Amino acid sequence: MESLRDIQPLKFPGIDDGAPVIIAGPCSAETELQTLDAARALSAIGVKVFRAGIWKPRTMPGCFEGVGDVGLQWLQRVKSETGMAVATEVATVEHVRAALDAGIDILWIGARTSANPFAMQDVADLLKGHDEVTVLVKNPVNPDLELWMGALQRIHNAGITRLGAVHRGFSSAGQHIYRNDPQWHIPFELRRHAPGMTLLCDPSHIGGKRQYVEQLSQIALDTGFDGLMIESHCHPESALSDSAQQVTPGMLKEILDRLIVRSGMPVDDDLMLLRQQIDDCDHELLAVLARRMSVAREIGRFKKSQNLRVVQPARYQDMIKARLDEAESLGLMPEFIERLMQAIHEESVRQQLKLLE
Ligand code: PEP
Ligand code: MN
Repeated sequence: MESLRDIQPLKFPGIDDGAPVIIAGPCSAETELQTLDAARALSAIGVKVFRAGIWKPRTMPGCFEGVGDVGLQWLQRVKSETGMAVATEVATVEHVRAALDAGIDILWIGARTSANPFAMQDVADLLKGHDEVTVLVKNPVNPDLELWMGALQRIHNAGITRLGAVHRGFSSAGQHIYRNDPQWHIPFELRRHAPGMTLLCDPSHIGGKRQYVEQLSQIALDTGFDGLMIESHCHPESALSDSAQQVTPGMLKEILDRLIVRSGMPVDDDLMLLRQQIDDCDHELLAVLARRMSVAREIGRFKKSQNLRVVQPARYQDMIKARLDEAESLGLMPEFIERLMQAIHEESVRQQLKLLE
């Protein structure tokens, strides 16, 4: 089994090595005219890869579920008229078969499909022998790095070498600013496991509103993503899906013009010195954590000898509150410290429970 480490960066015609790849197009192909209008306008602003969903996985039945196979002909027209490469979402073997027959250049696997290993395996089996096609795997809806890596591995095992990943954020309960929580550490971890693989960001589905597309795109470029997949529609307000997050081709041009592409090659002595300081801080943090866990185990042995419960809720409440107060006075973000203290406490509890086994 080849490892994800062997995956090489994707090359796209018309895009220089190292320049961010921009994939843009409507959430859904709705009519032939709407698809071609978007494609012409996007091609005119320099976009080289066009996206449009024709089979749409929607949460609720009764919503617009895509135009289906007829959309493939519209994508073929986009390709022949504008010269752009074309991309669409596939979720089933029927979709893959139809898209391959139609000569679609890039197939992407959506977040609901990459969460399902059976579906992924079916798609992978059908892709065997089709190493001409490029496959992009979006992260699964749930924040599970292994599931994402497993989905990529299935496609890789099928012999697909033109393989990349798209970060589109993760579903989470409750109301948040963004539609899908970015949890940036997950794509960063993916990059650690597959350093050469092209990693794109989809700020449209993370943000869920067009006003967030630019800031999320800048974060993505500043954190080493290789490109962006952005939804763009000539009349977003009347789009049949994801209306609130699509930008017009004109807006997209403005966003792209404002985005700053920074160097990925730090060779600066000042930066090296600052990084040394970070390394020193991390060494201290780890030493303190080791000491804290050793004290926690000592407390655990004491609780065991006294027949006391491992978790004492009142003490936990007091501890978190005291740490949050202290964090505030040190200018640390309370949400961050709360998550950190919860994780540390959880590990202390785990270690104390082990003593009771
Ligand atoms: C899409 O790209 O339109 C789409 C459905 O994306 P996701 O799978 O990220 O929800
Ligand atoms: Mn969409």
